[in-house]
Amino acid sequence: MKNAVQLTGLSQPDLVSFLKTMGEPAYRGRQLFAALQHRRLRDFDEITDLPKDLRARLSEVAQAATLKVESEYLSNDGTRRYLMKTHDGLPVETVFIPEERRDTICFSSQSGCPLQCTFCLTAQLGLLRSLTTGEIVEQIQIALNDAYGTGVKPPRGTNLVAMGAGEPLLNLDQLLTALRVMADPQGLHIVPNRVTVSTAGVVPRILDLAKISDRPHLAISLAAPTDELRDELMPINKRWPLEELLSACKTFERTLKPGERLTFEYVMLDGVNDSEEQARQLANLLNRHSIKSKVNLIPHNPAEPLPYLPSTDVAVERFKNILESKGVHTYVRRPRGRDIFAACGQLAARQTTLNTRVVTNLVGAN
Ligand code: SAH
Repeated sequence: MKNAVQLTGLSQPDLVSFLKTMGEPAYRGRQLFAALQHRRLRDFDEITDLPKDLRARLSEVAQAATLKVESEYLSNDGTRRYLMKTHDGLPVETVFIPEERRDTICFSSQSGCPLQCTFCLTAQLGLLRSLTTGEIVEQIQIALNDAYGTGVKPPRGTNLVAMGAGEPLLNLDQLLTALRVMADPQGLHIVPNRVTVSTAGVVPRILDLAKISDRPHLAISLAAPTDELRDELMPINKRWPLEELLSACKTFERTLKPGERLTFEYVMLDGVNDSEEQARQLANLLNRHSIKSKVNLIPHNPAEPLPYLPSTDVAVERFKNILESKGVHTYVRRPRGRDIFAACGQLAARQTTLNTRVVTNLVGAN
C-alpha cells in the first residue's frame, strides 16, 4: 500500500486525531496506541479488541507495521543483528546488545549514510534515504519482540543508541518525533534520558538539540585531534571544522544535567590516529575548550574493503593513559557482535557471514 499511513510513527494524540477522521471516538485511538506501542502488535488481525469492521477499514488506509525482517544473525556473545527491509526495499540494520543490567538497542536513522567517513562501512552504501518516524520506532519493537516475545515487558531497562546506519542529526525531526512516541508511558515508555544520539558533527543541529529540554544525550564522533587528519577521515570536518564543532559542544555542555556528560568517540586506527603525540593533542584540544566530557576509545572494527587495522592493545592503553594523565575521563569500549558484523561501523546490509548462526525470517513481518 503506497500511501498508507504508518501508524507506528504517530504519537498517541496524533493517533487519536487520525481515528477521529475515521469517525471513531478518542478511546479507540488510545486502544490502538496501546496495541501498537505497548503490546507491540504488528498486524491488525491480532488487535482483536478492536471491532472487526474497524480493523478492516484501517487496513485499507493504514499500516500497523512497515518493516520486515529479512535475516537475523546471532553472535556468540549474545548480540543479535537484524537486517530489515523498508516497504520500498531498502536495508535497515538494528543491533540488540544484552548486558547484565540493561539491554542496548543500536538503531539506524537512515538507510545508508551520506557522510563519507573512511573507516565506516555504511559510508560505502551512500545515502539511500532517511527513515520515517515509524521505521525508527519499529526497529526497537522488533528487537524487543524477538528478544522477549511479543509485548513481553523487558526484564531489564532498555537503552537506545542512534549509532546504527546513518547520521541521526540529518534526520533530526523524524528522530525527535520517534523519541516522543517511544517515551509515552502507555507505549514503549523509553524516555529520552535513556537515549544517546551520536553525530559526526552537524554543528547547526547540535545547537538545535541544545535548545530542547527533554532531549537525548549526545555523543560526538571525533576520530582525529587535528583538522588535517579529520578532514581526511571524516570529510564533514571540511564543512564544520574542529573549532566550530567544539564551540557547539561547549554550548551544548552548558545544558547538561547534573551527572550528565558529553561523550566523544574516538575510533582507534593503527598507525593513523593512535600515537602518543595525537593523544596529547586530543587532551589539549578538549582541555582548551574545558568541556565536561568523557572519551570512549572504540577499537576499530575492520571490514573489507576498509583500509585500516585496529590499534594494538598496547597503543590503546598508552593512548588512554596519556588522556587520563591530562585529566580526561577515558573508557575503552568493548566491541560486541564483531563475529556477525554487528559492531560499530560494520553495518552495510551484508547478507552473509562466515561461521555464524544465521536465523532467517525468525521474526518475520510480525
Ligand atoms: N553518523 C553517526 C552515527 C553512526 S556511527 C556518527 O558518526 O556518530 C557510530 C559510531 O561508530 C561512531 O562513533 C563512528 O565513529 C563509529 N565507527 C564507524 N566505523 C567504525 C569502525 N569501522 N570501527 C569502529 N567504530 C566505527
